Amino acid sequence: MSVPADRGAELVARDARVLWHPYTQHATEAAPLPVARAQDASLFLADGSELIDAISSWWSCLHGHGRPELVAALSRQAAALDHVLFAGATHEPAVALAERLIEVTPGGLTRVFFSDNGSTAVEVALKMAYQAWVHRGEPQRKVLVALTGGYHGDTFGAMAVGDPEPFFRPFQPLLFPVLRVAPEQASLEAGLEELGDRAAGVIIEPLVQGAAGMVMHPPAFVAAARAACDCAGVPLIADEVLTGFGRTGSLFACGKAGVLPDLLCLGKGLSGGVLPLAATLATEEIYRAFLSADRGRAFFHGHTFTANPIACAAGLASLEIVLREDVPGKLERIGRTIEEGLAPAARAPGVRELRRTGGIVALELEPRPGEAAGYLAALGPRLRAAAIQRGVLLRPLGNVLYAMPPACTTEEQCRRIAAVMAELALF
Ligand SMILES: *Cc1c(COP(=O)(O)O)cnc(C)c1O
Repeated sequence: MSVPADRGAELVARDARVLWHPYTQHATEAAPLPVARAQDASLFLADGSELIDAISSWWSCLHGHGRPELVAALSRQAAALDHVLFAGATHEPAVALAERLIEVTPGGLTRVFFSDNGSTAVEVALKMAYQAWVHRGEPQRKVLVALTGGYHGDTFGAMAVGDPEPFFRPFQPLLFPVLRVAPEQASLEAGLEELGDRAAGVIIEPLVQGAAGMVMHPPAFVAAARAACDCAGVPLIADEVLTGFGRTGSLFACGKAGVLPDLLCLGKGLSGGVLPLAATLATEEIYRAFLSADRGRAFFHGHTFTANPIACAAGLASLEIVLREDVPGKLERIGRTIEEGLAPAARAPGVRELRRTGGIVALELEPRPGEAAGYLAALGPRLRAAAIQRGVLLRPLGNVLYAMPPACTTEEQCRRIAAVMAELALF
């Protein structure tokens, strides 16, 4: 089903007339890629050319594209029950997926609240954490502690807990105040100490801060965050929208750190990356804070497509594959192969650091002379274009080149990804 090349050009021209793309400066950026189809770790463009999807289509495509079990599960479900409201109704895919999630996530999480994107999974966690304090008679606990470099999505609550740089500066006057601390134990403890009974909770991206440029922490930091929360008596919110389902080489980053969060946010790979689906898991203690004879104390949050049956069916099929095929182990091996391929480049001048957690490998470059570092570095779009010319889809975060391909990526494809990244490091 290939599309003629001129159809690609026509598609891009039509796109330019009507579309507004995410995270895109339309005044300067290159035209979008006309993608005709995808299979396994490859995207096929309108002209028939092939690109290795080395970033899992924005960190979501977990197994690879066109996985037959997922296609079958979601088409079967679409024919049986496509959608029904989730207030006052329930269905097998949602119940079964919630049961499985409770089994496989770190212990202590007993309640699953579905939504449809990672930002919303975070909004839900923030609202649950705060409303629970209101119900417990401590409404003054309204300051969340968040990390420098943190990214939790693009909706208002998620922006508030996210680092204002480089994305959210214009919105600061509209966002609720947050106490931002460096991702290290002493700063976190001092922050909670300073807040005292004004602290509402702590939100972290365990092990890997994705959008910050794949900044990595040791498991001991996650454990320290848990201990600091226990000491302060506040919930730990783990945003595993990126790190969940094997990306760190373990099923969950919290599990790798031996930590049980109070609230856990999932998205991206939850559906295997094929449909919008997210979830917020909560402890029974938080859930119970909302139980009351007073209907006004319910958690008033919900979306039209909460627990969409087709997305839940895909999620269930994906989770079975994750467990049956040891996706965390596969991603760990993929990460190691790419890291090995990059080892010589890591010693090149102009390379600041090579780092890896599980299947996420980052090569941080020195800022080029006269150029800013960080996400807005002009280097990013240049490297992206050069990678695409070489048959690999990369989307550098400023001067950080990274790969995070799906679990089906072959050894040869891993070596190709590493070779292209190594070549780009010398630009
Ligand atoms: C991508 C991401 C989000 C936001 O998820 P969306 O589905 O894009 O809204 C939140 N937190 C983390 C850690 C992410 O990487």
